[in-house]
Amino acid sequence: MAKMRPYFQNYIDGGWCDGGAGRVDVINPGTGQKLAEQALADAADVDRAVQAARRVHASGVLTALRPIERGRMVQAMGRFLLDHLDALADLLTAEQGKPRWEAEIEVRGAALYFEYYGNQASTVEGRSIPLGSGYFDFTHHEPFGVSAQIIPWNYPLEMTARSLSAALTTGNTCVIKTPELTPLSNYIFAQAAEAAGLPPGAVNILCGWGHEAGAALSAHPGIDQVVFTGSVATGIAIATAAAQNVVPCVLELGGKSAAIVHEDADLEAFEKDIRWGIYFNAGQVCSAMSRVIVHESRHAELIERAARVATSLSVGPGAERREPGANMGSMVSEAQRDRAAAMVEAAQAQGARVITGGRKLNIPGAFLEPTVLGDVTPDMTIAQEEVFGPVLSVLSFRDEAEAIEIANGTPYGLVGGVFTRDLDRATRAAQKIRAGQVFVNEWFAGGVETPFGGYGKSGYGREKGREALWNYVQTKNVAVKIKGGHNERF
Ligand code: NAD
Repeated sequence: MAKMRPYFQNYIDGGWCDGGAGRVDVINPGTGQKLAEQALADAADVDRAVQAARRVHASGVLTALRPIERGRMVQAMGRFLLDHLDALADLLTAEQGKPRWEAEIEVRGAALYFEYYGNQASTVEGRSIPLGSGYFDFTHHEPFGVSAQIIPWNYPLEMTARSLSAALTTGNTCVIKTPELTPLSNYIFAQAAEAAGLPPGAVNILCGWGHEAGAALSAHPGIDQVVFTGSVATGIAIATAAAQNVVPCVLELGGKSAAIVHEDADLEAFEKDIRWGIYFNAGQVCSAMSRVIVHESRHAELIERAARVATSLSVGPGAERREPGANMGSMVSEAQRDRAAAMVEAAQAQGARVITGGRKLNIPGAFLEPTVLGDVTPDMTIAQEEVFGPVLSVLSFRDEAEAIEIANGTPYGLVGGVFTRDLDRATRAAQKIRAGQVFVNEWFAGGVETPFGGYGKSGYGREKGREALWNYVQTKNVAVKIKGGHNERF
């Protein structure tokens, strides 16, 4: 890894600056050592960033562009990320803990958002509405203005890229509040915006405490829209703040997503889904496969296979895990790791059986063994609440109706999955699972092109896919009266 900068500043109105709330130490969770310091914004910094973004929006400089030109700038930002892939992946691994090869996947994934949305700039079209010969009526879409985006620590690059690319493509300006645990790699978006030729103030990136900078941003009267990815409790606070300003928000919250595995499923292939579904990014994925609900006839076999997958993973510092393979990095922090370990302990007290894992590694850093829990029942806390760690809960069912009932039996509804060779059964499950996305025979099937978002407490609004573009624009209807036409009103 290249020499580490000791201090990262915020980026407001085209300039790098210190924060009014001081600095925070960023810890490398793979070593437990301090990595760098990050400037922390206070409410006055947030205000400056919002004013800068407002000024650029009001100038009309972005909205005046032909969309294809704006799209080119957005695409250039993605290429800028790829030009810095190695340094960026190193930094991401160092601040977040994921294996280096997973960090590379994240950088490439972030770049893909800019490619995908930049490519769609000219497709945000209105329609004409027939009103007879006396009128010419059409709709068109205008950006909201200032888009406020509050980012979580699990995929700091991809989550910022997801909302920033769509917001810029549609002509908005942005203020981004990065996560306190993993703020460093987000510096790249400021450099990318400059390199792409965006005017100073179009993209502002600042870190700060959630309760201070995050709260100030989401309640700022100068923002026009909020995008939040994170926990349910914070989502409620942000939606409440947005309601006070009467601005829309998109909430991407947590999940307790379940795979239903039928007796005819290909369990050998399912081992891959376990590996990716719950151990990718050490399970710190909102759409993680945190529950498997398996037919009782295959329960014992599934438990055996899950334990084999979990124990096959070599767990240790992400920086030493450069090649894709059977390995897992640290969690993001010791606090998150301890929370997950405590949830495993509490599950045991409620009657769950630890098949494998559950313990912290006896080395510096935030490591938890890949864990499989058996004898989990739907009413247990571990089956209801998000762990956000490498902990798989295995439940069993007798018939299809019971499987669906268990899958839908939490307050969440982010994603779900069904594994079977029977098309009718798969389709019935796809109809009945209450979630924004259903995977059939492959967990995480889909991509930046497919809409993603929650039912229930997993949030509302959609990110990814064409659907996401509509979060960033409002519809204006224009009705033109034509003299000499048929102008009857009713
Ligand atoms: P969090 O809610 O604690 O923090 C997320 C962001 O919100 C951080 O930037 C934080 O500083 C900020 N924040 C905290 N309090 C705030 C407040 N009062 N006002 C404004 N901003 C505030 O969540 P986290 O611990 O960083 O992330 C983990 C959670 O995020 C999990 O529940 C996970 O499921 C969810 N998540 C969801 C998705 C998704 O796309 N659905 C993606 C990633 C993470």
